[in-house]
Amino acid sequence: MLSRRNFLKTGSLAGLAASVPGWMTNEAQADGTPFNADELARIPRAAGRGVMPVKPKFPNIGAFTTLLGDFHQHTVFSDGDLRPTARVVEAKKEGLDVICLSDHIEVRPFKNEIAHLELRRGFELASPRAQAENIILVPGLEITRAEPYAKHLNALFLTDFDALIQEKLMDAVYAAAKQDAFIFWNHPAWGQKELKSTWYPEMDVLLREGILKGFEVVNGFEGDARDYQPDVMQWCQRYNVTMFGNSDCHTATAYMTNWSLGEHRPMTLLFVKERSLEGVREALNEGRTAVYYYLPGVRDLLIGNEVWLKAIFEKAFSLKLMDEGVRKGTATVVCKNDLPFILDLKAAGNGVKLPETLRIPPGTTRLQVELDGSIPSVTFEVLNFDIAKGRKLNCQIALK
Ligand SMILES: [Zn+2]
Ligand SMILES: [Zn+2]
Repeated sequence: MLSRRNFLKTGSLAGLAASVPGWMTNEAQADGTPFNADELARIPRAAGRGVMPVKPKFPNIGAFTTLLGDFHQHTVFSDGDLRPTARVVEAKKEGLDVICLSDHIEVRPFKNEIAHLELRRGFELASPRAQAENIILVPGLEITRAEPYAKHLNALFLTDFDALIQEKLMDAVYAAAKQDAFIFWNHPAWGQKELKSTWYPEMDVLLREGILKGFEVVNGFEGDARDYQPDVMQWCQRYNVTMFGNSDCHTATAYMTNWSLGEHRPMTLLFVKERSLEGVREALNEGRTAVYYYLPGVRDLLIGNEVWLKAIFEKAFSLKLMDEGVRKGTATVVCKNDLPFILDLKAAGNGVKLPETLRIPPGTTRLQVELDGSIPSVTFEVLNFDIAKGRKLNCQIALK
């Protein structure tokens, strides 16, 4: 079977068709509709991605609504290329529910060109547009010192932005904490040797004092595989803090992302009790997040604690025997994948023979399987669901 990298590299009808093995049919084919290249190219995004993104749909979990967030972005009010309103419009197009325009306090190259210098101004300008677009806008800033780059922190839910203008990094952090800000550590690998996440003693202090509440597991700093730091995920689990996946976009995301290939910016999934600023704050405080990340050229990944990833998988994926009651011989199984991306599964059947690796596109797929007469069930290792450093989600599903 072709890897996603080869799948994309081949890019031809022959290559695409070769990636759909004989025992597996997509609904379009099962219905007798002929395949064509455009049809197949859309498989990675069931809703159909052209040159514009389509909101990725994730299931809600129990009483929680699933929101998509990006809590780290820049505008012309620091060293970004876009105006704050443009960031809001961009986020809307990409299906985000909640964003923070976390401009640097210290890095403001356009200071002389932009009339309003107050740190709060970017948030104020973007607010009416966010309201009109139904985007939750979180007031926040990035606390930055030139060196080392890996010692940057984002402060969310600020009320007094200017209080963070402090000479020393820790004083700025304490000024944010005093306002009950949610503070998380950005890109612990950025600027480090070989982009390896590196710990700082300040983080021990801030964790001990209950001030530091999250780390960026994914930050779109390089646009490659190094954006995802499994070590940071391990730290999140060790210290029981909230996981983030953010873009840290400085230029327009459209320049960074090939939507037609299924790429998207890193996003933080939030499981909220209510869709509001307070609802977002509560979910972040309780650590109810996961990370949605496109590993460049390879596959979509969901990264997070098992409790959330298991719930998402069980809600989004189902298997059903087409002919109920059949227990022996060849049978057709209907797979449903309600996620916005291909599921990569390693399967081990109990009472059922099926291929060891499965790539299930969004939507409905049919598989031909052999049943041996006992009650069938399948154990899946979900290869694109990371529940810990080096650990994939495991799930058992009964075939009914
Ligand atoms: Zn930074
Ligand atoms: Zn940044």
